[in-house]
Amino acid sequence: MPEIRILSEKLINKIAAGEVVQRPASVVKELIENSLDASASKIFVDIENGGRDLIRVMDNGSGMDEDDLMLSFEQHATSKIREHEDLEGIRSLGFRGEALPSIASVSMVEAASCCNSDNIGSQIIINGGDIRGIEPFPMKQGTHITVKKLFFNVPARRKFLKSASTEYRHMIDVIRRFSLCRPDVEFQFISNGKSVFNLKPSELKNRISQVFAVHYHEKLIGVEAQDGSAKLTGFVGNLDLIRNRSGEQYLFVNNRLVNDRMMNSAVYQAFSPMIEKGEFPFFVLNLDLPASEIDVNVHPQKTEIKYHQDWFVYQFIRRTVAGVLEKNLTVVPTFNHNQRFPGNTLFSSEPGIQQQEIKISPLSGSAGYAPSDPVSSIPEPEPLPHGHPLKERIDLFSSNISRDRQITNTDNIISIWQAHNKYIFAQIASGIIVIDQHAAHERILFEKALTTFQNESARASQQLLFPVSLTVSPDDYSYFADLLHEFEQLGFSLREFGRNTLLIEAVPADLRHIGEGRIVLEILDFFKTRQTVKNRKQYNMAASYACKAAIKSGDLLQPREMQQLIDELFQTQTPYACPHGRPTIIHLTLDELDKRFHRT
Ligand code: ADP
Ligand code: MG
Repeated sequence: MPEIRILSEKLINKIAAGEVVQRPASVVKELIENSLDASASKIFVDIENGGRDLIRVMDNGSGMDEDDLMLSFEQHATSKIREHEDLEGIRSLGFRGEALPSIASVSMVEAASCCNSDNIGSQIIINGGDIRGIEPFPMKQGTHITVKKLFFNVPARRKFLKSASTEYRHMIDVIRRFSLCRPDVEFQFISNGKSVFNLKPSELKNRISQVFAVHYHEKLIGVEAQDGSAKLTGFVGNLDLIRNRSGEQYLFVNNRLVNDRMMNSAVYQAFSPMIEKGEFPFFVLNLDLPASEIDVNVHPQKTEIKYHQDWFVYQFIRRTVAGVLEKNLTVVPTFNHNQRFPGNTLFSSEPGIQQQEIKISPLSGSAGYAPSDPVSSIPEPEPLPHGHPLKERIDLFSSNISRDRQITNTDNIISIWQAHNKYIFAQIASGIIVIDQHAAHERILFEKALTTFQNESARASQQLLFPVSLTVSPDDYSYFADLLHEFEQLGFSLREFGRNTLLIEAVPADLRHIGEGRIVLEILDFFKTRQTVKNRKQYNMAASYACKAAIKSGDLLQPREMQQLIDELFQTQTPYACPHGRPTIIHLTLDELDKRFHRT
């Protein structure tokens, strides 16, 4: 019979760490929460290697004396609640007394704190949960906590940490969230010795442009409303700030960062007449509710809460935001993507200098593309699951769309016309083909892109007469830094150009002129939403480029352009599906038509 035993405190902490400490960014989150709970007005964060090797959080808060400093690393030691009743009205960010002992059990910690003005505090050193010593330490009032070698004693967890740049981006996200939640607090963030954020106390509106980009400032619409004891304040972005992936949606409840699908969807609902599926509006909102109206003790990371009246809160948010949008966006724009990115605001070119018009017709850039060369090892689109409606649709026509000579020989085409600026109809000897112009162009560009990844000589790029600068958020910037090489392989030339700014000096030769900055950003967004599988960076970059650079449904094409599209499509390896697996061509044979009209 195995004996029942009580676990050691060290083991209990390690187990708790599994819930509280997921990654370096969660350490920073807990430490910043503690600093804010200690009423700090300045918080400095310093990390090395995405926080894998070092995380240091320093504050000028109330600090702790030596006894409290020792105690703070004990499991369930907290100064924030005392009795059961306190749980009902929590206003502090922490209350579980788990963070510090959990963090200390899986890393090497040096914690120093001072709670008075005589500039002498104490420092405690803890390795993997073992206290190594405590001694006096000269410092001003506040607390400094240094966390080294996270998960050094849990190899399985350390191994699963992501690359330094991925962890760094999670860190930016956490710090940005706090900085938006508390614009009255000074935040500094240094990564590998370089300053990322240096944020003085400010109004929320300024803070938003500091942590995203300057051009956000004029695109924000203020929100302020009250209903009973519920209050909603903050900003929503106008339609220029809509992006193709989520990530710039911030909803705080009583100044607490929460992940809240339901309340986020209240905001999306308000935007719904103006956005399409897959588009995400920008917002930073704080919801104030009496502490007794919510339960914050439902998740170890304290990122989820329960509302006593969730329906009321949902409606309050939806109604408020919808009202604000109605008042401020009276002219509901048509959804022309080009209008969203006015070139003069987002992409600052030098004043007075006209941006160069690149006159490239949609399909003229076959330079360097040798279709007769077999494109080696092109990965196929993921096979559709059996019974998938799309699969059936493809199968329905597959007998007709075998790669027979008849179709590939596009000289046979007798006439071509475009319907609804979206589909191309062409009569061929054996019947009619219908082509989805966007999907077809996507397939062409996708294969070209894959070729250029494998074969440098196939790359063709076009130098811009006036390079375009693009300022992005620090995390997008770090994504670009990771993808510079792939962008270059596609034919772009991007250069780092000061803080969070890129200079676009060249674009692929066959890129239509649709705003260099916009396309680069769209490719990035698209890449991010697809970036699930490792080692498929090139594949995903090619697909992202193809999707964003391809002619859109809605673009009017000239007969010559349609002919070229068809020619190039049939020179691809897999003409019948776009990179996402959607069909590009439907072939209606004469036989089929005859059958349908009972001619046979
Ligand atoms: P909790 O925040 O849930 O109380 P923690 O383990 O995060 O638990 O912290 C334990 C205690 O240590 C806190 O309740 C607080 O009294 C003290 N403490 C932690 N960090 C700081 C800090 N930066 N400044 C002052 N006191 C702190
Ligand atoms: Mg805490």
